[in-house]
Amino acid sequence: QDDQFKKVISHAKEYGYIFQSSEIYDGLSAIYDYGQNGSELKKNIREYWWKAMVQMHDNIVGIDAAIFMHPTTWKASGHVDAFNDPLIDNKDSKKRYRADVLVEDYAAKYDTKIDKEVAKAAKRFGDSFDKEQFLATNPRVLKYTEERDAILKRLGQSLEKEDLADVKALIEELGIADPDTGSKNWTDVKQFNLMFGTKLGASAESATDLYLRPETAQGIFVNFLNVQKTGRMKIPFGIAQTGKAFRNEIIARQFIFRMREFEQMEMQFFIKPGTQQEWYDYWKETRLKWHLSLGLGSDNYRFHDHEKLAHYADAAADIEFKFPFGFKELEGIHSRTDFDLSQHEQFSGKKLQYFDPEENKNYVPYVLETSIGLDRMFLAVFSNALQEEDLGDGKSRTVLKLPAVLAPTKAAILPLVKKDGLPELSKKIVDELKWDFNVTYDEKDAVGRRYRRQDAAGTPFCITVDHQSLEDNTVTIRHRDSMEQERVAIAELRDMILKEVDM
Ligand code: ATP
Repeated sequence: QDDQFKKVISHAKEYGYIFQSSEIYDGLSAIYDYGQNGSELKKNIREYWWKAMVQMHDNIVGIDAAIFMHPTTWKASGHVDAFNDPLIDNKDSKKRYRADVLVEDYAAKYDTKIDKEVAKAAKRFGDSFDKEQFLATNPRVLKYTEERDAILKRLGQSLEKEDLADVKALIEELGIADPDTGSKNWTDVKQFNLMFGTKLGASAESATDLYLRPETAQGIFVNFLNVQKTGRMKIPFGIAQTGKAFRNEIIARQFIFRMREFEQMEMQFFIKPGTQQEWYDYWKETRLKWHLSLGLGSDNYRFHDHEKLAHYADAAADIEFKFPFGFKELEGIHSRTDFDLSQHEQFSGKKLQYFDPEENKNYVPYVLETSIGLDRMFLAVFSNALQEEDLGDGKSRTVLKLPAVLAPTKAAILPLVKKDGLPELSKKIVDELKWDFNVTYDEKDAVGRRYRRQDAAGTPFCITVDHQSLEDNTVTIRHRDSMEQERVAIAELRDMILKEVDM
């Protein structure tokens, strides 16, 4: 598992997906830059989300609010008082950890044990193995599940009550050690606010304290009336947004899973009070379908319903994904009631209500939110795609099986040799195709090596131009995943590829 994760990180760098930020100065912890391929993949994920949410729903519109917001926003939202993580320091190593994450990681060890039992049983029972039944009845698995759930439940309850002494007691009872040094010498647990502060204005006296937004949602809430009125939106309707958010996270070393500067894709859906259960169910199902449509494998997803609810929520669930380090939150679906709009009403003194023509009355709408981290989604897609494939005869290949709709480059055009007019014809094909999708041209090295390079970069199609192409205007097209090759007319390439890569 650890090895797989290391491979993901080094492959991401080697193929121009992700670099450590300001690497020449030894980087900044938990901050990353996206390279020539990474920025394309990230853009494609964003677009895939935007299309599904905004383009395909006639009652959802998008906005792009500023990162800086009036400081009162964060008082109203509860972030100034309550956007904290419980911190614990190890007295020996002087390292700082998130107390809840230490416990969650400890509990996740039970998942690994369960996975092992499943794998063993699957091997033993072969085709007749019924995983669902095994998970529901095997005594050892049931014991692990029960122990894991008991730990998470206790953690949830102590966090909800802000009983930090009990979080520490739990860490001690479980005998959790510093992951780096093994030391169990812990300080008390303290709260730590995650917002980054900065200043607006030229002189020190007149400057206003600002925060970098820790989530994009508040930009939507404060614009609720602007959008509703100018767009003549009728409830139920949604506002979507993608953009950067900033959190002074405690933890490092999880690559782009937990960053200090990251991007969110959020949608707030405004509904009539009392309909929240129905919309909660609808959005849970709709968002899971979106994930499954990318074909990363349904076994890699699960819902986690929250025991511990944030101050604003009346129901919440995560869609968890099986990352190389285990199942972790990828997306949150939150029923936020009228908490946010009511708070902003109170703090701004402006009415944030909707006149419902059917009910013939005003009310503060309830909100159903879907919130996914773009970088986390990137990691899910990328880590799932990276595979080492055994080709038999002691041969293997590294292949990045990105969904074709998300791949940075859709096709590579490769002249078989660097002469006889093959480069010229290849470049003509590049010029024809580049209007519709990203293509690349590569003439260096033997064609087999070029195939491997494109496999590892995630390019779904390789188009090889050979001497026959000069005669009959056909080329071979090679499919990344099956490695199958077929002969097709140059004139058909565009439609053939578009069929696979168009969102
Ligand atoms: P976690 O418990 O992992 O810290 P959270 O519950 O605080 O996450 P939310 O505030 O619900 O997360 O944010 C919504 C989504 O934003 C998360 O599901 C995740 O995909 C993404 N996200 C949150 N924090 C980060 C981060 N530091 N780096 C990358 N993505 C993040």
